[in-house]
Amino acid sequence: MSLSAEPYKIKAVEPIKITTREFRERAIKEAGYNTFLLKSEDVFVDLLTDSGTAALSNAQWSYAVSGDEAVSGSKSFRHLETAVREVLGFQFVLPTHLARGAENILSKCLIKPGQYLPGNMYNLLTRIYQEIAGGQFIDVAIDEAYEPDVDHPFKGNIDIYKLEKLIHEVGSKRIPYVRIQTCPDMSGGQPISMANLKDTHELCKRNGIKIVLEGSRTVENAYFIKEREADHKNKSIGDIVREIYSFADIIIMSTKKDALANVGGFLATNDEDFFAHAKNYSILFEGAATSGGLTGYDLETMARGLFESIADDFHISWRVMQVQYLGEKLRRSGVPILLPVGGHAVFIDAKRFLHHLPQNGFPAQSLAAALYIEAGIRGQEKGTVSAGRDRKTGDHKYPKMELVRLAIPPRVYTNSHLDVVAEALIKLYSNRKNIKGLRMIYEPENFRNYEARFELI
Ligand SMILES: *Cc1c(COP(=O)(O)O)cnc(C)c1O
Repeated sequence: MSLSAEPYKIKAVEPIKITTREFRERAIKEAGYNTFLLKSEDVFVDLLTDSGTAALSNAQWSYAVSGDEAVSGSKSFRHLETAVREVLGFQFVLPTHLARGAENILSKCLIKPGQYLPGNMYNLLTRIYQEIAGGQFIDVAIDEAYEPDVDHPFKGNIDIYKLEKLIHEVGSKRIPYVRIQTCPDMSGGQPISMANLKDTHELCKRNGIKIVLEGSRTVENAYFIKEREADHKNKSIGDIVREIYSFADIIIMSTKKDALANVGGFLATNDEDFFAHAKNYSILFEGAATSGGLTGYDLETMARGLFESIADDFHISWRVMQVQYLGEKLRRSGVPILLPVGGHAVFIDAKRFLHHLPQNGFPAQSLAAALYIEAGIRGQEKGTVSAGRDRKTGDHKYPKMELVRLAIPPRVYTNSHLDVVAEALIKLYSNRKNIKGLRMIYEPENFRNYEARFELI
């Protein structure tokens, strides 16, 4: 699919405040040089996250106002159930207020103390839920996933050899499931291939290990499979999505990503016994098993969003093309970015961008602050600040990559906004020597990326 412009027209608009450089210098200083602490109305192009920030369609709005708020037998729950059956191929769905609700239920149901949880790259929240349940995350992603300038078509792949070795070392009884993420954020949103999914599935099946798939970005992943895996070129996105899910025993997902809703998540499966078990926890932690604490309004936007997400020409093609548009502009201008560019965000390689700064000067945090000052653009640090401290030694857990993520909310900005982003970064890159490092002056106990405060060195 090749589109020349946005495949939708704009029905409602929200004005954006225009600010001066002096205003922004003051605002970021007041925010402790942490983009999370800025007021969103002081931001011109907000690329902090694409999670829950999509613009709803006219169809989503119209279903939303007819949301059924009944606690039992709700029509809106049945709409979600139909969408999950038709779009994803799972009979049973347990809505949760967010993906982390599903993550919590999953961990409580399946993990016993002393068990190992292999997966393709870590996700901070997931790892904590696994640790609370007494499990230990083991990264079995391919090595290329950690090489920012290595061009590999499927950086989301599982290293089958690493997984086999783990099974051999600890035994399959101590591995309740392998957790696969589609387009993991930490790889820059790079996909896992269908061939790799197949191989992982075979290995797991042979060893009696379940596959849990984190599917928040499966549609983006399906788009890349269609583009990059020759035997899938002529399939529809919907068919590829269902094929991906055919390898999973259980899926969890945040409906704030591909599914174009502003809130929500769920757990889905075809395993009736597991579903019955999981329901108990849902009632305890989330809400009724048919709502997960969400309103009928939310369930309707989730159901509609699932159908819209797999529409090649209405949604996913433009979604990925827009991200590629920004990535290509930056790549051509020599701004160091993570390659190849993924489906939801462009990641700036702050280590190379600011190679005059040591890692303890928080290069990614500094760059994110400088980009806000330059043009009112808000990105998110994905480096030493987000990685946190080692629990045993108390030192910073210096990650291999120092990145600033520019996540593009679906259907919100036009390519003119992305031109502003590209121009600001190109200008900043040519003046990069002027960007100073930061010193941390306040650090909360956990999740310091959200609340830590800094000052200029
Ligand atoms: C967004 C996301 C989450 C968090 O989702 P919430 O709905 O905010 O809890 C967890 N895992 C992955 C892979 C995600 O993309």
